[in-house]
Amino acid sequence: MTIVFRQGRSLVLAIDGPSGSGKSSVSREVARRTGLAYLDTGAMYRALTWYCLDRGIDLADASAVELAAETLPLEISTSPDSERVAVDGTDVTAQIREPGISAAVSAIATTLGARAELVRRQKQLINDLHRRIVVEGRDITTVVAPDAEVRLLLTASEEARMRRRGDQLGGTQTREQLAEQVLARDAKDATVVDFHRAADGVITIDSSELDFEQTVGGVLDAVESVVGAGVRDPEPAGGATHG
Ligand code: C5P
Repeated sequence: MTIVFRQGRSLVLAIDGPSGSGKSSVSREVARRTGLAYLDTGAMYRALTWYCLDRGIDLADASAVELAAETLPLEISTSPDSERVAVDGTDVTAQIREPGISAAVSAIATTLGARAELVRRQKQLINDLHRRIVVEGRDITTVVAPDAEVRLLLTASEEARMRRRGDQLGGTQTREQLAEQVLARDAKDATVVDFHRAADGVITIDSSELDFEQTVGGVLDAVESVVGAGVRDPEPAGGATHG
């Protein structure tokens, strides 16, 4: 089997889509199987939210949030086998997943100056990793990596997305709580980025009726349909931690 990525060839696989579409877990697994690095851009927005709350920055103060984005001392792992996110040396990997962060993150993500700075950092990371990376988040195919070799929109029905988020949270949430976390957050985020419709040249994968393995397979098939067969690497290499 030809392993295209071992030949030094660049391959950016950009995946966007709404909450609960399985973007993060599928992207991470695809990175493992292809030997590419992995960047969870949502974790960057979450880390900035954590930083602002920790420093007592008013999330409604756009200039303060923008300045926080510019000075954020962020380290984020780009290995698909490590989820580590640290701010100013403090490991915040677990904290950034807490409900308080999920509830506040859209305020940060809709602050355009802060978005511009995080997008700049994301583009820089992609280049630092020699453009051999799976990168996911809501504006990746359109704003961060419109020039990616492969661009996918991973989507699923509202029902499927709420069910998955409920399973992730251990089945403890009411339907209203899940709707708030999945649909309401997307509605806020959608005021600044469009992640529900595929832009020109973007391949849509609807995972409503697919399980995890089938979705990963669908993504790998889509990659092969663009770059040719042989993307599945039996010995994934992964990335490193970046400041
Ligand atoms: O993917 P995740 O749910 O962790 O993303 C958290 C939040 O970060 C999203 O709700 C959105 O507000 C923001 N985000 C974004 N653009 C991205 C990735 C995430 O606006 N590329």
